[in-house]
Amino acid sequence: MPDQEVRCSCCRRLLFKIEDGALCGALSIKCPRCRALNTLRPFRAPSTERVQRQSDEGTSHEHR
Ligand SMILES: [Zn+2]
Repeated sequence: MPDQEVRCSCCRRLLFKIEDGALCGALSIKCPRCRALNTLRPFRAPSTERVQRQSDEGTSHEHR
């Protein structure tokens, strides 16, 4: 399985690498550089979140 790089959402610093699917619950980590608290969720997110994103992109695309 390929490792997934987890980066700070604020400064893009590489926080750690994790094997795809290894994360099974929410995880919080504080960035050592900018001290932003990054909250991670399993990469295999619930389907509802994906559907929302897709429909969001779809509407914006249709609008243009
Ligand atoms: Zn940061």
